[in-house]
Amino acid sequence: MTAITFPIPDDVIATADGIEGFLRKEVFPRHQSDHALLSDPRRTYSDDGRYVPAVVDHIRSVRIAAAKAGYYSMSVPVELGGAGMGMLAYFVVWERIYRLCGSHNWLGAYAVSHWAFGPSPVLLKVTDRARSEILGGMMEGRTSMCFGMSEPGAGSDATMIHTKARQADTGWRLNGRKIWTTNAPQADYCIVFAVTDPDRASRRAGGISAFLVPTASPGFRLESVIRMHGSVGGNEGSIVLEDVQVEPWQLVGELHEGFRIGLLGVSIGRIYNSARAVGLGRWAIEAVT
Ligand SMILES: Cc1cc2nc3c(=O)[nH]c(=O)nc-3n(C[C@H](O)[C@H](O)[C@H](O)COP(=O)(O)OP(=O)(O)OC[C@H]3O[C@@H](n4cnc5c(N)ncnc54)[C@H](O)[C@@H]3O)c2cc1C
Repeated sequence: MTAITFPIPDDVIATADGIEGFLRKEVFPRHQSDHALLSDPRRTYSDDGRYVPAVVDHIRSVRIAAAKAGYYSMSVPVELGGAGMGMLAYFVVWERIYRLCGSHNWLGAYAVSHWAFGPSPVLLKVTDRARSEILGGMMEGRTSMCFGMSEPGAGSDATMIHTKARQADTGWRLNGRKIWTTNAPQADYCIVFAVTDPDRASRRAGGISAFLVPTASPGFRLESVIRMHGSVGGNEGSIVLEDVQVEPWQLVGELHEGFRIGLLGVSIGRIYNSARAVGLGRWAIEAVT
């Protein structure tokens, strides 16, 4: 069997070692001291399927501690205030997190900014006003966001989305539905993908735009939490958008070119998901050997 091998740079290994120390100091003790809350789904989730407030507090506290320790924004571009360590470090560190935490110490997944929930290269594309309004809280781990691309009937082929952005007054009004939106139940913002030019969208020649939407906006509603594999709760939401007003400062990237933003996010997500799969696989093998 052949494989491509290359040395992992020393600074990347040092960062992974550092995050391991952070997890042992900040994450494992939380799971020990609040074991029932964090391991019994009937306590972790409320009746509507969302995390209970005490769990949301743990998640936010881990993000904030990781930001203070310098790990949270390790792969966020320098222009946004991150360490700009890039995608190799992103892979190696996520693999280490999942290999160490497995499925039990799951708060570890909040020690590094996730591509869809936290600051990432996607935020390079927001307007100056959006940057000044949201970047501080996002970089400090106080706030989080979600990525609203998939819809009923638009999953693998995301160009099939039906959510519409109709021009109104100075901006647009968004109407439609999103599903599988991870972190939606507690996110402060959502990047919503919507059709702004139906003709171009039907020809798959652009026509989709991305908007930064505060989840507290009138008309933005979490319809339900998706409960997977018989779980009593979950972290994916179904969203309904009813006449949600957005202004030009909320546009992410260029008008009609939002699909590029989608692919930018999803591409980083592929690196994250690969690292997660390898890390969890190693954790599982090591747990039984
Ligand atoms: C846990 C979880 C979290 C998620 N988080 C997010 C999120 O935060 N934001 C977001 O926008 N989306 C999210 N998604 C949605 C995810 O991106 C979609 O599930 C994915 O794109 C697949 O779409 P689908 O589920 O509609 O499946 P489908 O597109 O219906 O695909 C079903 C099956 O058919 C196959 N298939 C599809 N088209 C073809 C074809 N042309 N030829 C051959 N085979 C085909 C697929 O490979 C798959 O096996 C999440 C999904 C999950 C499960």
